[in-house]
Amino acid sequence: MQQLIRLPVMATLAGLLALLPGRPAAAGDRDRTPPAVAAAARAPGGVVGEAGPGAPGIPLRTLADKYHLNYEEEALSGRVRLTSGGPSLIAANGMSGVLVSGRYLALTERVRVRDGEYYVPASGLPAIEAALATASRPADAPIRHRPELGEGRDPLLRVVLDPGHGGGDPGTHGQRGQVEKEINLDVSRRVRALLVAEGITVLMTRESDRALAAQQRDNLRLRAEFANAQGAELYVSIHTNANRQRSLRGFEIYYPRDEYRRERVADAAKTTSIPPAVLGTTSAPPDAVKPVLWDALYDEYYRESRELADDVRAAMKRLPTNDRGTRAAGFYVLRWSHCPAILVEMEYVSNATGEAALARSEYRQEIARAIAAGILGFKRKFDARDRNNE
Ligand SMILES: [Zn+2]
Repeated sequence: MQQLIRLPVMATLAGLLALLPGRPAAAGDRDRTPPAVAAAARAPGGVVGEAGPGAPGIPLRTLADKYHLNYEEEALSGRVRLTSGGPSLIAANGMSGVLVSGRYLALTERVRVRDGEYYVPASGLPAIEAALATASRPADAPIRHRPELGEGRDPLLRVVLDPGHGGGDPGTHGQRGQVEKEINLDVSRRVRALLVAEGITVLMTRESDRALAAQQRDNLRLRAEFANAQGAELYVSIHTNANRQRSLRGFEIYYPRDEYRRERVADAAKTTSIPPAVLGTTSAPPDAVKPVLWDALYDEYYRESRELADDVRAAMKRLPTNDRGTRAAGFYVLRWSHCPAILVEMEYVSNATGEAALARSEYRQEIARAIAAGILGFKRKFDARDRNNE
């Protein structure tokens, strides 16, 4: 497996965006923006206000006003976000397209900045307005961004289950011989069986008692890479907890902290293809656009990770143990998964009662049932939103 190991990609989003054609590095640079695009003249009369003679297109502020969107300029990345509870639009200087509610909309001309104002080409206005109107129909429906898994079939979830540890890394253990790596694998297999029975595609980072790599860090990295390479739509890592404080019992569910975003975006743009449903096409977007797309997708992934954590928690509450809640964490596998991701700590094996429960196959099945029910609950809401979106 060694040949698969890559160095972490540390390129920054700002660095990638600097590669965009026509991006002014600073305000003083802006005069270099090409002069007015003639297309302004073709702007549909009065739709969002007239573009003045010589204007490089339609000012994004005008669109923001019309659709009651907040206008937010990100000076560092040379980007503008128009947001609201409903539709959103992201544009970056020099990009020949915009993101409307997470979907990439190609334009025949580039987004321009002039005197600090962002302009979209007038020729693209009808398409942009149509996309904003469509996106504003169900007020808060998140965008569908899952890969299509088959023609003419209902969309399926592709879940990656990650049984923590394995091989030379046993994880933690209890006083009576219960070992984390073995419990994690057994419960993961049970979750898989339950999800497969519901028609969900399930992939596992390991199927047996093995490490993915000799070094711990590579091992974790490969788990996330596996999920990304497999086009995972959900990533669920399954672990068993331990603490010196032997009285602790219960489950905890972690979702990723919103951090390392720039590194994650840069990594995703290099290593992972953008789900075709985001683009509305299977052809790859221009490289310069990928970081912007991934950044927008992460907003959704963070939100959905929390939602998935809540759903699994709600199902696990039925277990005869303590509900220790959901928390944000910077776990490696969560940080590098380019999809909604959670990590479940099922129970404390360091607690005598907890270990006794974990030793019983009936209890493992109960835990598996709860985790699967949480994932299915998430899927149901997700699918319902997809239908509303169509
Ligand atoms: Zn663990």
